Amino acid sequence: MSPSLLPILAQAGRAFLDVLYPPQCAVCHGAAPSGEVLCEACLEKAPRIVAPYCQVCSQPFAGNIKGPFTCSDCNERHFAFACAVATRRSRDSVRELIHQFKYGGKIPLKKQLGRWLSETLEDPRLREPRCERLVPVPLHHARRRERGFNQAHILAEELSRASGIPVLDCLRRTRYTATQTAFDRAARMENLRGAFHLRQHRAVTDLHLLLIDDVLTTGSTVDECARVLMAAGAASVRVATVARA
Ligand SMILES: [Zn+2]
Ligand SMILES: [Zn+2]
Repeated sequence: MSPSLLPILAQAGRAFLDVLYPPQCAVCHGAAPSGEVLCEACLEKAPRIVAPYCQVCSQPFAGNIKGPFTCSDCNERHFAFACAVATRRSRDSVRELIHQFKYGGKIPLKKQLGRWLSETLEDPRLREPRCERLVPVPLHHARRRERGFNQAHILAEELSRASGIPVLDCLRRTRYTATQTAFDRAARMENLRGAFHLRQHRAVTDLHLLLIDDVLTTGSTVDECARVLMAAGAASVRVATVARA
């Protein structure tokens, strides 16, 4: 068969499936455009984060702040990563899609989530110097078995497909930590200490790394991962997530 026929057949196949199973919005179950997981109204409920926001953690602030600034939280904490970038808040449609993807095992939603994640690469903070490897935040193997997949790894692969930057699955989570949200910040950091290790035979020396996760909440998890990667000789560690709290 001529290779030029394949896209035409794929399109015809999708049109046929659209008739059999009309595309439904994953959030409101209304009609969605062909090949999309959200209807236009639900897509609008996922607005892009706009300036002003903190240069380190991307926390948006209301009001009239001119030029780059760092929030008081980041001034106090000295993260091991240079910055954490997300283009969406974890609210409304975004929160719902991430929830269905992660806890409901709806893997096809990775397409939309990957699109939002890819938009982080347009941010000047991630453009220079160029990110050389995508490092997914690991799950403990017991949790991975329970869930069946690591959502951060799937998202890193989506971003890799869109950007050409290779995935380097170089971290291992050696401690099964209790749910982070149950702790205050000090307890949370203590709980994570020593939870991550560099995998054997994986080198990160002199590489500019981009850590990938689904949501940035307190930053404690990616901070601990970044600490391990910097200690192993990485040139820099930045963070990209689909959304931030
Ligand atoms: Zn909808
Ligand atoms: Zn901040």
